[in-house]
Amino acid sequence: MDWVDLRSDTVTKPTRAMREAMLNAEVGDDVYGEDPTVNTLQQRLADDLGFEAGLFVPSGTQSNLLALMSHCERGDEYIVGADAHTYKFEGGGAAVLGSIQPQPIPHDSDGTLSLEKVAAAIKPVDPHFARTRLLTLENTWHGRVLPLDYLQAAHDFTRERTLSLHLDGARLYNAAIACNVAAREITSHFDSVSVCLSKGLGAPVGSVLVGSAALIDKARRWRKVAGGGWRQAGMLAAACMHALDHHVARLADDHARAVRLADGLRDMPGVKLLGQYTNMVFVDVPAERLRELDAHLRAASIRISIGYLPTLRLVTHLDVDDAGVERVLDSFRSFFER
Ligand SMILES: *Cc1c(COP(=O)(O)O)cnc(C)c1O
Repeated sequence: MDWVDLRSDTVTKPTRAMREAMLNAEVGDDVYGEDPTVNTLQQRLADDLGFEAGLFVPSGTQSNLLALMSHCERGDEYIVGADAHTYKFEGGGAAVLGSIQPQPIPHDSDGTLSLEKVAAAIKPVDPHFARTRLLTLENTWHGRVLPLDYLQAAHDFTRERTLSLHLDGARLYNAAIACNVAAREITSHFDSVSVCLSKGLGAPVGSVLVGSAALIDKARRWRKVAGGGWRQAGMLAAACMHALDHHVARLADDHARAVRLADGLRDMPGVKLLGQYTNMVFVDVPAERLRELDAHLRAASIRISIGYLPTLRLVTHLDVDDAGVERVLDSFRSFFER
């Protein structure tokens, strides 16, 4: 039986059609700027999202790091959510590699950062303080879609306060599909955006950072410094292009399957549904039964990730179909109702 893997949308495997696109890709040496497929992907995303230039990189972590290092100099500061990927889940890279100080502030429950709290965190211009340069947002954040009017307000706020505004848009297209708008309506508020093609879009590897030509020039230099200058990467870029052509609209299916999963878990004894947002479902189960639940699900070829918390995050994606969702619900039911 095939695994139903709900740990993350990073686990998707390239489809046969995607592999064929990779096989047929034209390639060149990207450090020389000569990989035609990489160049096409970069320009396509820049054009689609309303920016001058793009840079193809191996991971979202590197893409965010290059953005932070291109917006900020040594001794500068970025304001970021305390539970944001660019603060909490990237190994402290901005501080370690960029000498950039993070200023975390708590998220509101919808994933926004209150602009009053951001304003209060901006440092005066004074040698005592790091220089506050940048505000970083994340959309979707733990599946939650940031409201479009909030993005407009964050844009206006950063213009008034002369801060740059970066979006960690690892799941930008999930947000766009959920809002039923073109991705550009989200990205138009930002100075730079990082997009992952390797999550729900299903490419094996790759993120793209978009911004002004000057910003992307800096980022290209930092990418080389970070060891991310790659050569015939067109085979990977071809997978990303295939993902953009074929896997964007279908994100709605992942969202619908998350709704179905949440509906099935809502009234199940022993399970507390905390919420469903885009392709993610959050539930609490009794902490002392987590290991046993994990083993029970594995016996039915279902993978979940169990951390230290009783909260489970179940993620739908390209490789989870309707039958998979039903198998998950049957398995939860047989565990909690026996
Ligand atoms: C996955 C993810 C990233 C980047 O992750 P990589 O594994 O480095 O590609 C960045 N931000 C968010 C919100 C993510 O979920």
